[in-house]
Amino acid sequence: MLSLGFNPTGVILPEGHFIDGRAQWLEGRRIDVLRPSDGVPFGQVPAGGEEAVDLAVASAIQALATSGWAMRPPRERGRVLRRWADLMEVHAVELAQLEAVSSTRPVTGAFNSDIPATIEAIRFFGELADKLGGDVAATRRDSLGFVASEPYGVIGAIAPWNFPLSMMSWKVGPALAAGNAVVLKPSELTPFSTVRAAQLAIEAGLPAGILNIVHGFGHEAGAAIVRHPKIAKVSFTGSTRTGAAIMADIAATGIKPLTLELGGKSPQLVFEHVDDLRHTADCIVRGFTSNAGQACVAGTRLVVHEKLLEPLVETIIEMITPMSPSVTWDAEGTYSPIISKKQAYRIDSLVTQSVERGAEILLGGGMFDGPHEGAFYRPTLLHRVDSDTPAVREELFGPVLTVQTFRDEHEGIALAAHPTYGLAAGVHTSNLSQAMRAMRGIAAGTVWINRYNRSGDMVIPTGGFGQSGIGQDLGRQAVEANLRHKSVLIDFA
Ligand code: NAD
Repeated sequence: MLSLGFNPTGVILPEGHFIDGRAQWLEGRRIDVLRPSDGVPFGQVPAGGEEAVDLAVASAIQALATSGWAMRPPRERGRVLRRWADLMEVHAVELAQLEAVSSTRPVTGAFNSDIPATIEAIRFFGELADKLGGDVAATRRDSLGFVASEPYGVIGAIAPWNFPLSMMSWKVGPALAAGNAVVLKPSELTPFSTVRAAQLAIEAGLPAGILNIVHGFGHEAGAAIVRHPKIAKVSFTGSTRTGAAIMADIAATGIKPLTLELGGKSPQLVFEHVDDLRHTADCIVRGFTSNAGQACVAGTRLVVHEKLLEPLVETIIEMITPMSPSVTWDAEGTYSPIISKKQAYRIDSLVTQSVERGAEILLGGGMFDGPHEGAFYRPTLLHRVDSDTPAVREELFGPVLTVQTFRDEHEGIALAAHPTYGLAAGVHTSNLSQAMRAMRGIAAGTVWINRYNRSGDMVIPTGGFGQSGIGQDLGRQAVEANLRHKSVLIDFA
């Protein structure tokens, strides 16, 4: 059987920015990249800024002009994307190891889940490239009105660190399928796997310059992308705070459209009757411990009917007690490290503040003991919380579940609502009508009923309400978001 475990010092890292189809080091300044599992610096990327973004945009514009990427039949663009997906499949082990070495993704999870999801997304957008039509308008008999869709030109994409390759595929797949070129900045914390994927795209037939990867810090390379006058649209995934800063920056430096996929504080609403309590507990456990809670849609607020509190919490505790840390290059490892010590201290500080405000720790609290040089936070359950408790109010981005109870449906739905975020929600009940009432009652971009995760069907779009974002990734909606629409009216009287 294939063993996915590996020696992290043996991994070959792609060099430099990836601009015009090749590696480029433009700046003397470097960013040290640390392995979250043990905090060891293991590679460097250039600290890019305006110069690198300028070069990447120039290369994208040149490539659009000379390769005819936007003018090609959509079917042909789709074929290139599908070939790219096939090629990533061939390199799946290499990509999984590259993903695991610098991120919080355990290698087996990356191989079985992240890499297939990335491949499926690129394949899905490749298949969709020639499937979208436009609108013909009802106008007079002697005129024809229709809407012609066109790519924007150069799209600027900015990605977070929590699922580096998967987030890349959500941004790049629809933008390329629609005929755009892309300048993408991965997170400075997890930069390498994205470059390797981009190299494979060129190998699959994407013209050099149509996909460029620029490294750097958010306030430098990220801001340079946002402000660049020749970047026609920005697509961002990350925290609500950064999303707001980007909106302000765009408003100050010129108007351009923006897709924002931001943070969340998603509820798991459990009514009095569920078909299978263990299944519900499993959804809740996975919902807040996968990637150690470092998922935008992490279900971190349990809102449970008081009659189910005890049996449900007991089952959850039984399920999470065996979880233990291991480095991401251990093939047996499943429990993720926190991305950095700084982030782990932030989680711990919010837990401490919650306890100071009256929360009771039912399990966990603090980092795992032992010889781990990285930061592994214990799955943590906090009871006796209210809407002012910091762990209820704020996105911790860690494995912390708050527990609140309710007595009737109305109260449950009200508690599930969050004043700030509206990304996802889980509803658990055996009563279909109740599930539908809750679905209508909760303001969230995604509602999962008797499950808690994406299905892997890229056809279902994802996006947030309120401060969780604007616009959607995935689905045909993502391709449409990468097109602008021109209204055409022809008279033929
Ligand atoms: P972050 O906001 O700190 O950084 C995201 C990206 O933005 C990074 O590449 C960073 O370098 C860049 N950036 C930072 N400041 C910038 C600026 N001023 N201008 C331009 N770019 C800038 O987020 P993170 O810590 O990398 O990721 C975690 C966050 O992402 C969480 O809040 C999570 O909920 C969110 N997220 C949302 C989704 C979704 O689909 N809604 C998916 C994954 C992650």
